[in-house]
Amino acid sequence: MAESLLHFAVPFAILAILGINLKKGFVVSLMALLPDFDIPLYVHRCYFHSLIMIMAIMLPIILITKRMRRCEDLSILITIVLLSHLVLDIFGGSIPVFWPILNMNVGVDTQLLFHYPQISNSYPQIQIHIEPAVFKSFQTFDAPLFTSGGVAVTALLIAPVLAKIFIDRFKKQQAKF
Ligand SMILES: [Zn+2]
Repeated sequence: MAESLLHFAVPFAILAILGINLKKGFVVSLMALLPDFDIPLYVHRCYFHSLIMIMAIMLPIILITKRMRRCEDLSILITIVLLSHLVLDIFGGSIPVFWPILNMNVGVDTQLLFHYPQISNSYPQIQIHIEPAVFKSFQTFDAPLFTSGGVAVTALLIAPVLAKIFIDRFKKQQAKF
């Protein structure tokens, strides 16, 4: 299960790399947190952690915005950030990614353990977990909004973006003189 900070930072960095305006990218990346807004309803990793549900909502919106020729790009960007949430959650956890077509939680665990000096004992592990999806409510819920590793990854993802802003502003100021 990915932490909230990474759910924001990863799509923000992706949108920045794609050349999306940073303010727009910031706001759109916040929407990557939406699938976790099932927690106030006392359920988690529920309907909005489904690829089918997200596409059932976003595809008509994309088609409507395309027809209206308004906000089409925005609806595609929101779809991308919502899907990034599923990708981050499916690794290290499990989500009902194909619900309601398949009422199963799917998760992927990967790791490569390094053994020294018996390097030949090092091998990658890829496990795909499939288990029945049970949407039951909880009384209390604990999850990290951020962790040390997440903060480090976020800093490394966002630092080049901030550096580029600083360099661009510096160049603009230099050009004025
Ligand atoms: Zn989630």
